[in-house]
Parts: sequence; structure tokens; C-alpha cells
Amino acid sequence: MWVDEYKYLGLLFTKDKGFRGCVHQAGSRVYKALGRITGLVSLNNELGASVDLQQRLFDTLALAGGDYGCLAWCLPLLPPVRHAASGTTRAAANPVERAHLTFLRRLLRAPKSTPLPALYRETRRRPWTVRWAAAVARFWNQAVDTTRNATKLTPVVLDANRDLWRAGARCWSSELHTFLAGLGPELASALGSRQPLDDGAITAALCEQYDRAWSNLGDPRTPTTAHRPLATYKHWLWMEDELHAERSTYLHVSAVPHRIALRVANFRFGHQCLRVNQRYTNERLPFASRTCNRCTLGAIDDAAHLLFECAGAALPHVRSRFGALLRAIPSQADIAAKLRSLFNTQNQASLALYVSDCMHQTALVVGP
Ligand SMILES: [Zn+2]
Repeated sequence: MWVDEYKYLGLLFTKDKGFRGCVHQAGSRVYKALGRITGLVSLNNELGASVDLQQRLFDTLALAGGDYGCLAWCLPLLPPVRHAASGTTRAAANPVERAHLTFLRRLLRAPKSTPLPALYRETRRRPWTVRWAAAVARFWNQAVDTTRNATKLTPVVLDANRDLWRAGARCWSSELHTFLAGLGPELASALGSRQPLDDGAITAALCEQYDRAWSNLGDPRTPTTAHRPLATYKHWLWMEDELHAERSTYLHVSAVPHRIALRVANFRFGHQCLRVNQRYTNERLPFASRTCNRCTLGAIDDAAHLLFECAGAALPHVRSRFGALLRAIPSQADIAAKLRSLFNTQNQASLALYVSDCMHQTALVVGP
């Protein structure tokens, strides 16, 4: 009997789309896991549900669902795409990444307008495609390493698939080749010669493509700068890799109350409490008019002005309370270096309280 749809080991294979429907199943599994995480967190209030804990729950409950069977269906989704509006490179739209982003936004209560590269960076995450690409490389290397004999089917099937690709057919190997060629010719050549793939190099090359979003960003204080929240994050608020690697940013330090951590995250993404960020609610307001109304300096109301320069709204008093934190900042440095020094302090708990207290002084504090 002929069928149009077949399920093998839980993976859906259809006559028209092959394995293409599988990513939707994977997306549903991740969304289901998000529901379980929300349930666990709300049922167990005493856990405190820190950002760290929720990320660990996500890794335990959601990752496997998004990865399951990805070898069969992930290849067409691996090459990054250029986003039409922002011009930045991002993961091809797919239900698993959408669920991932839903989780990250909920985690930090970040609005939809949050620049994606900043959301990933803040949470120490990468698009899911980086995981899938590593899984494909591991699978390939295992198959390449296996001695060919009659009892092991996978390597033989893979060899046959490679032959198909070389004959010009569209198949798994051709999709892998397209992906690798997009990362660099030296990576793609391993396929033709049946050599192991350098999975570290693949991950690095893929991440490098996503990281292009961070290049060519203008000065946050220049009126013509495009992507201002992203430029501000990069030039002023960037936390160094070591802080992220040690999980010692304000998001992971237990001394920072959850509610404060969320406020600081939103400040770093471009909070509306600063007039410079009121581009959605007040978009007709030209850049030059987004000045501070707490003091008489006539300066643009941006993160640097609030944290270091503004003399209004009792801010000097707040600064005097955080003397130890602020004295550690090189006084001769330019404003960008001062901000980066502040945000890279080892005393992340004090930094978080300082930013939160300064935000309190702005009249427009809303949200988390
Ligand atoms: Zn001011």
C-alpha cells in the first residue's frame, strides 16, 4: 500500500517534503518543554527561579527535544541568512529558534525590539544552528572513521549518498556541501576527499558569521548612527568574554536580586527610561531633541549621561553612595572606556544596584 507520510523513529517523512516537517515537530517539543519550565518555576517559588536556574532547566528539559533527529533535517537550516531590515546575519527562521528566542526573551522580560545579537550575548547563548552544525560534524567524523564492512550500514549509506552528490543530485551530502562552502572552501574540501571535519573550525566560522553583526557599528553619540541600541551595547556596555565564561556577570551572581537583574538587562538592551531610546513610543522626536530633562546640561539622555554626567534628580547623591565602585574607574579615560570599565567590574552586585538606582531616578521607569 502506498502512503504519503511515514514516521520512522519518531521522525516524520512525507512524500512532498521529505524530512522538512521534522523541524516543526522539534519546535513543538521545545515549546512543550517551555511550558514545563514555567510550571516548575511557578510551582516551586522557593527555588527563586534565578536566570541561572532557568537556563539550567532549559538545558535539561528543552535541548534534547530541539536536537532530536536533527541530522536528518537540519542541513537546509544551517546557512545563516541576512535579515532584510537590519542587514545583520542571523539564523534562518525556524520553529526551534523561535522557541529558543521566546525562552530568552521571557527569561529577561526583554521586549520584542531587543536586538537579537545582544539577547544572545547577554544570556551566553548562540543560535541553535551552532549545536546542529556540531552534531552533523560529529556524525560525519564517526562515519568517516568507521571501517567499511557488511555489518555497519550507516557508513555505506553515507558513501552512496556522497556518490549521489558527486553525480549532481540533490541529497544530504549536497546540502552539507552547500553549508560548508558558505563557511569557507577549506572546510568544504574535506567532503570530497572523505576526510574528518574540523568541528571546532566549523563552530568558529559559523559564530564568526553571526558576530559580523558587531562590526561597523557607529559611535552611540553620533546622530547618524544606525542600530543605536546595538552600537551602545557594543561600545559602552560590552562585557568581556572572561566574565561570561566564568558565569560571573550580574545575571549569574546570586547576590543580585532577580528583579534587579531583569532591570539591568533591560537597561543594557536600550530601556525606555532614557529618552534616547524612545524611538518606538516617540519616534517623531529627532535625535537632537532627545535631551535630558532632569538637568540643564542639554545633553542627549543616554546611558553615559545617566551613569556619569547627569547632575539632576539626586544622581550625584546616588553616585556618592557607590563611591567605592566608581572610584575604581580610570578618571582620565574617555566616556566609552569608563562605561566598559564600570560594566566589567568584578563587583557585579554593586554595579547592578548602581544601575538600578540610577534608573529609579529617571521619572519614566516602567517595566521590570
Ligand atoms: Zn541630565
